[in-house]
Amino acid sequence: MAKGSVDLSDQMNAYSSPLRKTVKWYKKLGIELILNTALMNSWVMFCENNKTKMGIVEFRRQLVEDLTETENKTAEEVERPKRLRHNLTQKEGSVRNTRRFCNKCYKNNVELYGSKLARNKTKKVSTFCNECENKPHLCLQCFNKIHK
Ligand SMILES: [Zn+2]
Ligand SMILES: [Zn+2]
Repeated sequence: MAKGSVDLSDQMNAYSSPLRKTVKWYKKLGIELILNTALMNSWVMFCENNKTKMGIVEFRRQLVEDLTETENKTAEEVERPKRLRHNLTQKEGSVRNTRRFCNKCYKNNVELYGSKLARNKTKKVSTFCNECENKPHLCLQCFNKIHK
């Protein structure tokens, strides 16, 4: 067992798990800092543990690939506000067939007037949010309210 093997796994854990959770921490620290301070250590221990002779350039390239992949995925999931991911989309097909009660307006009106009157009071729209659960029909005002 190489002397550095325990340290290596500890280090790898320390680098990889916060990366997944806190993108901002990672961005502040910067990819270069991580690489420059840890690269030599990691590379030497990686080669020792895996009995490979991967060149440091190749090792570095793979490391960069791994890190940037993680960043893209996490940034997408964590940092983009809801309204950028969600779009009010026009339903395809004739307006006649695609118009439905605005989901939120209808619910509001049911509370205000009861379900019978709500059907007369609620406007129909052919726009919906493709990203919301159940892809609800929504008018523009309701869409904006929900996706603040
Ligand atoms: Zn509405
Ligand atoms: Zn939505």
